[in-house]
Amino acid sequence: MNLELKGKVAVITGGSVGIGLAVAKALAEEGVHLALCARNGQRLEQEARAIEKDYGVEVLSQVCDVSSAQDIETFLSAIEARYGGADILINNAGTGSNEKIIDAPDEKWQFFWDLHVMAAVRLSRGIMPMMQKRGGGVILNNSSICAKQPLGYEPIYNTTKAALSMFSKCLANEAIPMNIRVNTINPGLILTPDWLNTATELTKNDNRTAHDYLDAIAKENTPIGRFATPEELAHFFVFLCSPKASYCVGSTYYVDGGWLKVV
Ligand code: NDP
Repeated sequence: MNLELKGKVAVITGGSVGIGLAVAKALAEEGVHLALCARNGQRLEQEARAIEKDYGVEVLSQVCDVSSAQDIETFLSAIEARYGGADILINNAGTGSNEKIIDAPDEKWQFFWDLHVMAAVRLSRGIMPMMQKRGGGVILNNSSICAKQPLGYEPIYNTTKAALSMFSKCLANEAIPMNIRVNTINPGLILTPDWLNTATELTKNDNRTAHDYLDAIAKENTPIGRFATPEELAHFFVFLCSPKASYCVGSTYYVDGGWLKVV
């Protein structure tokens, strides 16, 4: 299938590792130029230059904390200066939480609201006019299965991801007359380095390996019985970015190995 993505420009938040990096590479393989951001500039820069070398596309790498309105303004200006706009926006940066509602402070709620919701609001608002000038575009919001099926230890994550999904639905309705397609992806268990680090930490004093630990989580939760690789998920992102997905608008797609327990 020709995905007709060659020469497009994609903005990916959190593009330096894990899912964001896998999506960046998968789009680069289709000939898409990239604008990536993250907070750790060294890791970002290293990955950006490697993508340029491996795939022959242009990569703008910008240190940007997407929970900061000021950093987003600077990132938007850099995108406009480098590419004159963008065709694809992937709101991906995010992280899990761990708390009880009874004692989690306002500041923690605010942090995750800014990271998971306001970052997507601000970037979409900034990039949509640029997309309009180019005749349209695609916005993908990387939410989580937890937006629908909460995990007990992370109520703030569950709540802010659910808000991101609703934002995405509302934006889809507003954006489609501008030929901008907006969709949400809800991944399940995706084996990123972060999962591996956590598993290594949690198993350092017992006789299980990190892989045993992760295997047990996957078998307990998912009918498929395993984690996905970031690359498996990235293929789905790439398809939704393509004009071949032209009738996909305002939907939420689960990529979860069957983990979601409802229809
Ligand atoms: P990783 O921790 O592997 O990567 C997160 C990326 O986001 C990094 O590039 C990180 O770089 C960047 N990032 C984090 N915070 C910020 C910030 N404030 N500003 C800018 N960049 C930031 O995460 P995953 O790849 O696992 O997750 C990516 C997204 O997918 C998240 O939104 C997550 O909620 C979602 N998801 C993940 C699942 C999984 O199983 N892995 C399942 C369901 C959803 P840096 O630290 O340098 O800023």
